[in-house]
Amino acid sequence: MNAPSSGCRDLPVLKESGQREVFCGLTSIIWLHRKMQDAFFLVVGSRTCAHLLQSAAGVMIFAEPRFGTAILEETDLAGMADANEELDREVDRLLSRRPDIRRLFLVGSCPSEVIKLDLEKAAERLRSRYAPKVNVLNFSGSGIETTFTEGEDACLASMVQELPKTDARQLMLVGALPGVVEDQMLELVAGLGIERVSVLPSTDADTELAVGPNTSFALTQPFLGETYGALKRRHARHIAAPFPFGELGTTAWLHAIAADFGIDAEVVERVTEAPCARARQAVAKASDVLDGKSVFFMPDSQLEIPLARFLTQECGMRPIEVGAPFIHRDVVGPDMETLAENGAPVFSEGQDVDRQLDRVRAARPDLTVCGLGLANPLEAEGLATKWAIELVFTPIHFYEQAGDLAGLFSRPLRRHAALSVAAE
Ligand code: SF4
Repeated sequence: MNAPSSGCRDLPVLKESGQREVFCGLTSIIWLHRKMQDAFFLVVGSRTCAHLLQSAAGVMIFAEPRFGTAILEETDLAGMADANEELDREVDRLLSRRPDIRRLFLVGSCPSEVIKLDLEKAAERLRSRYAPKVNVLNFSGSGIETTFTEGEDACLASMVQELPKTDARQLMLVGALPGVVEDQMLELVAGLGIERVSVLPSTDADTELAVGPNTSFALTQPFLGETYGALKRRHARHIAAPFPFGELGTTAWLHAIAADFGIDAEVVERVTEAPCARARQAVAKASDVLDGKSVFFMPDSQLEIPLARFLTQECGMRPIEVGAPFIHRDVVGPDMETLAENGAPVFSEGQDVDRQLDRVRAARPDLTVCGLGLANPLEAEGLATKWAIELVFTPIHFYEQAGDLAGLFSRPLRRHAALSVAAE
């Protein structure tokens, strides 16, 4: 599969704007704090924000947590107290108690944005106080006009701005992946013979990361539009490619990287021959029930377009509508084009939940991929659903996870078929 780059600009997209049903960007902290072992995420928010984090991430009993909430009280919200002074005191307490923290993220929320607390200035002030031992950065995880994966995007973009400059020729792989999946990715890329490879975000602050005009970068997550922009502003070059989901997506992604580094396509074929065969076999085994079935994606995680590409091209599904909260064509264009060639779905951007539900009910797809809040009502109406958020928390990238990825979609169909038989 080639990696097309610009034809997707002509593909029509239905723009929606109305009520949305998504989690906020604070949710990203749940996977980011696991990935960045010496970072602390200090949410400047309300009790609601603290509850969201604690219930979603679970309370850690045996380990010191790497996230917390500096609660804005009513006096702060009413402008009766200096929230900056309190924040400084809170950070001081935290850093004196926790010498293991090397990176501190001040994370904005709806309340901090509503009272216009300038966390960028606060991070600047605290950075000069605690550097070089602790790097203090800030990003927004608020639920105002965002969806939950934008938390990671905003976090990585904040790091890009602070990276030192390098003129070295190098590859940067961008996106937080589980450790075992990241190791598989690095092994594949090492097989291509690229010498300097870095990963953003790095597991620890001591890993040397830099960016410059001879840096080419490949995204591993499709929701990193702001990070893409930040890297371009640092003069790095984007390697446009389908995302590395399934056998064909992974192979196309590797081919695009190889082409950027002047590496022969035969090298890619040699490196990928065995894992391709394994992935093909695993997908075929898991996707027999998917072949010929229709799928409808409600906008949720921003993974929708690449995953619909995988289901259509590699599992034989028929896409009806592929909705995404945002469509960044420079980022997901290659997947959009392949998807249009294979299944010609309706693309929609943004959310107007009632109108989209009407379209789901009219189309009655075999499988609807949607948020948690929509899944139960649709199941009650006899439709099979898949929780979109599960796809963010499960390892699904590259060859070795291709079978599991197909399995995540085939399981609800199998369960639905079993329940229908039982009800007869
Ligand atoms: S950031 Fe906003 S949406 Fe998210 S938990 Fe806090 S108040 Fe709720």
